[in-house]
Order: sequence, then C-alpha cells, then structure tokens
Amino acid sequence: MPIHILKADNDESPPRIFEGDEIVFATHNAGKVKEIRDLLGARVAKVSTAVDYGLDAPAETGSSFVENALIKARYVAEKTGKPALADDSGICMAALEGQPGIYAADWAEKPDGTRDFAMAMQKAHDMAVEKHGDWAAAPKDAYFVSCLVLAWPDGHAEAVEGHAQGALVWPPRGDQGFGYDPMFVPAGDLRTYGDMAPEDKKKTSHRAEAFRLLVERCFR
Ligand code: IMP
Repeated sequence: MPIHILKADNDESPPRIFEGDEIVFATHNAGKVKEIRDLLGARVAKVSTAVDYGLDAPAETGSSFVENALIKARYVAEKTGKPALADDSGICMAALEGQPGIYAADWAEKPDGTRDFAMAMQKAHDMAVEKHGDWAAAPKDAYFVSCLVLAWPDGHAEAVEGHAQGALVWPPRGDQGFGYDPMFVPAGDLRTYGDMAPEDKKKTSHRAEAFRLLVERCFR
C-alpha cells in the first residue's frame, strides 16, 4: 500500500522520531481518543487532546485525506507548542467514482448537526442505482482510507496512509462498528465490518494499518 510522506522526492533524510513525553491528539471525537490511547500505549507518557487545550476544530478545507489531516495536526501543534497527531479517514466507492471520499462524514450530517449513517449508506446505494441502472450492475469495489499526520511546532510533519480494500453489499449487515461498516466486506472475508468484533476488524482495517506504519516510522 502506498505511504504518503510529506517531503520532496529527492529528500533522502530519515523520518523524524518522536522523542517527547506528550502528544496532543487533534480531535473532538472521544471514540478516536480511546483508539489512539490504546494504540500508542506506553510509547507516549501523555496523550492529551484538542479539547483539553480548549481548542476548536479548524475548517477541513483540503482536497485530500492527507491535506485535511495536515491542517488539523498543524493547527494544534501551532496553538499548543507540542507535537500533534491528527487523522482523516473516509471511504471511496468505485460505483461513485471515488465518492464520498473525504466527504464521508458530511454525507451523514443532518440539518440539526447530528449524524445518521443509515441515511449516508442509503444515499450511496441510491446514487449507485441511479448511475448504473440497478444495484446488481454497480461496481462493488471500495476501500477505506485512514491518513495520520504527526506534526511538530516547527512545521515538520510525517504522514502515513492505511487502506482496507473490499466490496460493498446491500442491504447493510451487522450492528458492530460505526459509519459505513455495515455495507463493507473486507477482501478475503464474507462478513461486513459491521458483523465483526473490533479485534477482527483490526486485522485488516485501514486505521490499524496506518497506526502500524506510523509506529514503524516515528516511534522507537
Ligand atoms: P473524519 O475522519 O472524522 O473526517 O470522518 C471520517 C468518516 O469516514 C467517518 O465519519 C465515517 O463515516 C467514515 N469512516 C472512516 N473510517 C471508517 C470505518 O472504519 N468504518 C466505517 N466508516 C468509517
């Protein structure tokens, strides 16, 4: 799987290793905080969050996962003076020429600001049917992406990207997981991510791959 590294092609310098005792996680999502604390484990003495520092969330104005993760990580690193970690993720569907991509969360947003992923999955299904005539005719390939950026206050940043390849199914199945999990079957399995216990999802998930790559790259 490709790894995006935020430096020029001719820059042979090694990745920067994290050596501090605190990382600020650039998120307001409690679920993500728990996941990152579990994954970083004993490697970092303290994982704080943007909420602990009273920070708001910057507008995600980038046109790619890495750009949006970079915006979030740099914002928090600048405001706190500490290394900051951000993630940006989504799902890309062949039937919709890569949509919803970076807009995966937006598709679930209701007028009152809450999120409804049954609605977002229905929208993806209906758009695929409209475009391809019926669901059976729509290409089913899809992949999840998770991009992680670790940014330092001096502007240096390291980025990694994990992918999970799979196929879409309809109707959605399973009540574990979150987001688009119930309509996604990872390659080599018959269950959706919605059918799986978290330990099983982790074996193939884009987020687990991104964390693995980040740890290999930036932690000793
Ligand atoms: P963001 O990274 O917070 O901008 O939002 C990413 C969105 O992508 C989530 O709200 C989900 O809709 C979707 N997404 C990302 N990762 C997963 C996953 O593992 N399962 C299901 N949906 C996901």
